[in-house]
Order: sequence, then structure tokens, then C-alpha cells
Amino acid sequence: MSAKFAAGDLANGLAAPRDRGAWERLSANPKPEGRAFIAGRLMAARDGRVFEDISPIDGKSICTVARCGPADVATAVSAARDSFERGAWRRMEPKERKRILRRFAEAIRADVDRLALLETRDVGKPIQNSVSVDVANCADCIEYYAEFADKLYDEVAPTGPDDLALVRREPLGVVAAIVPWNYPLIISCWKVGPALLTGNSVVLKPAEQSPLSGIRLGELACEAGVPPGVLNVVPGFGEEAGKALALHPEVDLITFTGSTEVGRLMLRYAAESNLKRVALECGGKTPQVVFADADLEAAAAGIAWGIYYNSGETCHAGSRLIVHESVREALLAAISRVTATITLGNPLEPTTQMGALIDANHMRRVLGYIDSGVRDGARIALGGRQALTDSGGFYVEATVLDGVRPEMKVAREEIFGPVLAVMSFRDEAEAVRLANDTPYGLAAAVWTHDMNIAHRVSAALRAGTVWVNAFDRSTMATPFGGFKLSGSGRDRSPHAIDKYCDLKTIWTAYA
Ligand code: NAD
Repeated sequence: MSAKFAAGDLANGLAAPRDRGAWERLSANPKPEGRAFIAGRLMAARDGRVFEDISPIDGKSICTVARCGPADVATAVSAARDSFERGAWRRMEPKERKRILRRFAEAIRADVDRLALLETRDVGKPIQNSVSVDVANCADCIEYYAEFADKLYDEVAPTGPDDLALVRREPLGVVAAIVPWNYPLIISCWKVGPALLTGNSVVLKPAEQSPLSGIRLGELACEAGVPPGVLNVVPGFGEEAGKALALHPEVDLITFTGSTEVGRLMLRYAAESNLKRVALECGGKTPQVVFADADLEAAAAGIAWGIYYNSGETCHAGSRLIVHESVREALLAAISRVTATITLGNPLEPTTQMGALIDANHMRRVLGYIDSGVRDGARIALGGRQALTDSGGFYVEATVLDGVRPEMKVAREEIFGPVLAVMSFRDEAEAVRLANDTPYGLAAAVWTHDMNIAHRVSAALRAGTVWVNAFDRSTMATPFGGFKLSGSGRDRSPHAIDKYCDLKTIWTAYA
């Protein structure tokens, strides 16, 4: 999500240097809000049901959260539809919409402590990253799209002299944004930003593991002047709230980020309901391809951080290392040296660089993948075990599996944890073949100083983003999304705007 890795490496002035005790004291005040946010108001689920929101830091409950079901989703969609039809947002002067969205971005920045704490306690990511990456990027994203509000022009098509054909961009109506738990704030804003910019009304469904920052976003948007009903937030489970939202006939677009498996369901829900549009950002299995002439120290840093940042719970985490056999050992030694400097610990400790995994099930799944790699013949070169076992939380060591073969499960499936699978190659053709030997196509990286190799290989790789001698560098200005089973459509950049609009042609014949 960002090249900002080191603890204390604070972006955009969002520095909140505190010790762990201070963060813990702040956690209690104010108490996190777990109700849904619909039509500008906080609401319990209609049937009063709640679920416990468990923190992966220590396995303890943070608070209870409204368990929204179909009735709550129907209320939220109807609030979104009403606000859209009434037009207070859609028809607002573009420069006024820009002003409100900029205020929303500023409100996010001003709320950095609270948002960062919600994100860290829900997801288990280091507090410094929540402050300097998650909250900072979230505010930047809203601000980025705000700026388009009074700068986007529609088109006049070339016609003969007796006609005028306007091609106008119009908002779709009600957008359902269904998001995962690994970067709740950032991914929500990647969707909410362009959807609001273009005048849509939104129902946001955060993941059940990380509902709190999304609810707060709804409140902040409203406080900044986004009219009630334009941004609604329905926490709840995928098969209840998520499914009801995706099947709802009054939803015009599902913009989804999550697993490929649930992405497929979204297409089915659209087909079974109203043929709503579907934009999918799904899983990944990113290759890091290292040639013999690469700067191994730079590559080692990019590779270690590329898999261990956010505990490997990143869709484009560089989880497959494909290295020329002549430099394999030297590179693995350099990766071990970098990894030894990464502090695994309590995410509220400001020096922590690697925190917890999202929940106990997921931790068991990741450890199960490590076991399966060993059973299939791979060797644990680093880590491989559960960590901080007396914390009550869900931590796994930074792990390297060496001697992986392309047919193994650990080479093919998305582990979504801090596990690097290492394979080697002899020539460029084999490197490209191994790198592309995956159903996913979200991202890839190439490490070489030979520009011929760099250009040839980056052109041959089937992925939405290819980094050369870098990893995870990005800004709002570059599109993000995948090829193949990694999805369709793009978040970020001006290209993301199109998916929130319909095109209307207005053809006028002069009398
Ligand atoms: P997930 O697919 O389990 O859940 C994503 C969202 O879908 C959640 O809000 C969940 O509640 C909802 N959902 C689950 N089942 C549903 C159903 N039957 N009907 C409707 N909604 C349902 O994914 P996750 O475990 O939250 O996140 C991890 C996955 O997300 C990984 O595969 C990761 O690669 C992917 N991801 C992709 C990107 C990207 O930009 N390509 C970014 C981040 C994460």
C-alpha cells in the first residue's frame, strides 16, 4: 500500500508519537461506535442483534457491533436511493461538492488518533502504519478525488454542422462498496472517493473482522457536509449483510474488494438480481523475479518488506520469490538480515513493525500452509512458528520456505500471511514462465540492471502493476487492479472514475 515501511517514517505530517500506554489509554476514550450509520444516524440492527468485535492484538472483545441483516440493508439502500433521487448531492454545484469532500479529507486527518486506533485494534497492524499509511492515504484519496469535482469536462462528439451530440457522464445511482479487512480505511476510500465525486450515493459494507473505521468514516462524511443518506455504512457478516446488499435490486453497482471466491459470488448475485455492474479487486500471488545482476541488498529489502509488511495480509504481497540460481543463497542471506531487523510485537507499541494476523482461524490457516509446504518437500529457512503465544493474540513469525516447486500449494494459493515461497530459475524464459504460472495477475516485480531484460520481462508478465527495481511504490495517480483471477476494473487514478458513471448521449438536431 505504500513504500513507507519503517516505524517512525511518518507521512503527510500525521505524526502522533506516543508510547504504548498512551495509546492504550486513548483506546478507552471515546468508546468505539459499533452501530450502523444509515441516513445520517447511528442505528442498532432492527432485530437488535450484535456480534463481538475481537481484537487480534490480544483476542479480547473491543465492543459489540450491529449485526445488520437484509432489513437493515433494505433501509440503507432505500436511504441511499432517496438521497440520490432528491438530488441534494448529485445536483450540487461541483465546486461545493469539492469543498465538502475536501472538508471530509481534513476531518479524517483531524481524527487521525481515533481512526488509527480503530484500525490497529481491529486489524492488528502497527499503530505507526495506521497513522502514517492507512489514515494518511485515506485522507489523500478523498482529497485527490475532491479535486476532480470542478475539473472534469464531458464531451461533444464530432458530428455534421446541423447536429450537436453531447456525451455526458452521469452517476449510476446507488453504489454498494463491499470491502475486506486488511486495509479497511484505504480500500473504502478508494471506492467512496470516486463514487461520491461523481454524485452517487453509497452503501459501504465493511468486513465483519474490521467494521469500526468504516462506521467512523460515515460519521465524519456527514459532519463534513455530505448530506444524510449519501454515505451509509452497514456492518455485518458477508453471507447476511453482504449478500443482501449484492442481491438488492436497487443497487446499480457492486464495487468489491476481497477474495476471488467471493468475487465470483458477486457476479452470480448480479446475474440473479438486476444485472447490476460489478467491479472486482480480488486476490494475488505476486512474483518477485530477481536476475543475477540485480542489486541484491536493494532487492532483499524490497522482498522482505514486500511480504512482511502488514504481516503479509496484502493482496499484492510479494509472496513468490523467483531468483536466478547463481544468486539464490546470497539473496536469501540478505533477506534474513533484513528480516532480523523487523520488530514483531504488540501493534500499539510504536516501535512494532509487524503485528498480528486478523483472527485465530486465519492464523491457523497460515500455519497450516507452512505445514503443507514442509509436507510437500519445502524447507523452512526462516521462522515458521506462531509467535507471542502468551499475548492471547494471533501472531506468526516472518517465514521463508525454500525449495518450493511450482506445483506445491504454497506456490499456487494465496496464503495471505508472512510466508515467502522461494523458487529458482536458470534462464529468462524459465523466469517468465514461473512468474506467469499462477491464476492471479495483480502485481509483479523485476530486479535487474539490464534494461533490455527489464523491458522484455515487464512486458511479458501478466499483471496489473509491474515494479522494476522497486516494490509497492504507488500514488493515487496510478491505477491499481489485476489481470486474470485478480479481478477487473481499477481503483485509484482518473481511470477509477469511469466505473462510477454511465454515459448518456444527447443528440440534438438543429431546426
Ligand atoms: P472476503 O472475500 O472473505 O470478504 C470480502 C468482503 O466480502 C467482506 O466484507 C465480507 O463480509 C464480504 N463477503 C464475504 N462473503 C460474502 C458473501 N457470501 N456475500 C456477500 N459478501 C460477502 O475477503 P477478506 O478475507 O475480507 O479479504 C482478503 C481477500 O481480499 C484476499 O483474497 C485479498 O487478496 C483480497 N484483497 C484484494 C485487494 C485488491 O485490491 N485486489 C485488496 C485487498 C484485499
